[in-house]
Amino acid sequence: MIESKFLRIFCPRCKKEHTVFGKSSTRIKCFKCNKLLVETTGGKTKIKAPIKEILK
Ligand SMILES: [Zn+2]
Repeated sequence: MIESKFLRIFCPRCKKEHTVFGKSSTRIKCFKCNKLLVETTGGKTKIKAPIKEILK
């Protein structure tokens, strides 16, 4: 389950890397270009950015 792990994702727009928790309860935006990277819908986390690496 990737939801309980930290993920390294990168912004598809500016390629900036972000480390996020897979089960984030808040929306996460790229702090560089403001693109929405992680969205929450009905309590589920939706990652909208390519995952580069799954951390433990
Ligand atoms: Zn960005």
